[in-house]
This record gives sequence, structure tokens and C-alpha cells, in this order.
Amino acid sequence: MRYISLGSGSRGNATLVEYKGQHILVDCGFSRKVFVQRMMAANVDPVSLRAVFVTHEHGDHAKGVVKVCESLDIPFYTSFGTAKRMGWLHHPLWQCISADQVTHVSGLNIRAVVVPHDAHEPLQFVIHNDVGHKLGILSDLGSLTPYVIDAYQGCHALQVEANHDPDMLRNGPYPPSLVTRVAGDFGHLSNGQCADFIQRVRWPGLRLVTAGHISEKNNDRNLVSQVLAKVLECEPHQVDMLVQDEISPWYQITDF
Ligand SMILES: [Zn+2]
Ligand SMILES: [Zn+2]
Repeated sequence: MRYISLGSGSRGNATLVEYKGQHILVDCGFSRKVFVQRMMAANVDPVSLRAVFVTHEHGDHAKGVVKVCESLDIPFYTSFGTAKRMGWLHHPLWQCISADQVTHVSGLNIRAVVVPHDAHEPLQFVIHNDVGHKLGILSDLGSLTPYVIDAYQGCHALQVEANHDPDMLRNGPYPPSLVTRVAGDFGHLSNGQCADFIQRVRWPGLRLVTAGHISEKNNDRNLVSQVLAKVLECEPHQVDMLVQDEISPWYQITDF
């Protein structure tokens, strides 16, 4: 199993997971045109895509979902709340998933995890294949619940949100109401919360950690790498961080 970010941040998110030559996508917060461009950059033919799993209705996650799925005639999976909010309840390609449900697509098992975020029924996903390799994708949550910590135990790879530095957020360009929302329990994870999460799910099998959804206005990549290097016990330059406008490298999950 391997995965690649097609871009990550408040202007669009999509993560492609490959297993045995087939692909699923988590979120499509880009236009269909940009999605196709990024797929080409990743050297993946869009026709190998089998399904899209959507975390929630915010545009940076849901923008391109319907157009991409309609063009490929593939299903998209969301919670009832997300579909209701997006007007997707009667869309023929929509599939409903609920908390803790595990969906099986192309040899992958995709578990839906409920997270605290200011959306209508937001989910995040833990994906494991039939040989037990486990990838956790986690963004857009304001706080760490015991349920979330439990759901992400035993991951071999993590793509986790390090959204903001609390001081930069407070002193940055956002109006007070937005600062309160982002920093709140239903907003986004700060760098410190991200480190706390990693600390709580760490185990010897966790070999790949990538920080994503990094705010361009309220964070500094040097701060992210410094904070995460401590918990990952590595040098700051070794901390892997996703970017908004480019694909990441491919990350391979194997038996190490
Ligand atoms: Zn987001
Ligand atoms: Zn969101």
C-alpha cells in the first residue's frame, strides 16, 4: 500500500491511496481540472480510481467530488450529515457511511472515525489493507477525543493536521470570531495538539508521519518541524510536511 497527497491546506485537500494497482481518494477539495493535473503529476490514470471518501462538506475537501465521480462513474462515500448539507442525498453515486462503519473497496478497509469539527457530521478515515498495513488520515478536528486516540492506535503511517501556531493565530490576520472558531474544540489542531496526538498513538510500528493542513497565514513550517521533531525524536529537517500547491512524494507502507 502506498499513498500520496495531491495537495494539503485550506485551499484544497486530496489524498490518494494505492493498493494492488487500484486507487481510492480521500477528499477532493480541488476542481476537476486541478485534480486531473495532480493525478498526472503523480503518474496515475484517473480511471484506476474506484471511490472517493469525503470527510466533510467544507470546500477544501468537497469541492471537486461530484464532478470527478460523475466523470469516472464511481461512488462517493460520506456521512448522512455531509450529504444532506451538500444536497447529495438523492445523488445516484452517493453512498452513506456512519461512525465506525468499515467499507471494503479494492482490498482496502476504510473505517470512518467521528471527529469534533464545525461541520455537520464530519468523519476522518483509518485505512488498512488485507495484510494489516494501516494508514491513518486525520485533519479538521479541534480537539483530541478518547475515541479518536483509540481509533488511530496501531497505524504504520499517519497523515495528521498541524494547522496553526496559537500565537500566530491570535496575532494574525483573522477576525476575532474566526480565531475563536479555529482555536476552539471544533476547529483545527494546533502544532502542539498534533504533537500530543502523535505522542499518544506512537508505537514501534509507526514509521511514517506527515504533517498536513498547515495554515499559510497562521503557521510557520519551521515551527511545525521544531515541535514535531521533539515528539518524533528526529531532526527538524527530517519532519515531513505537505504543501498546498504540489503533490507530495509517494509514501510506501511495507513490512519494515
Ligand atoms: Zn479543511
Ligand atoms: Zn473543515
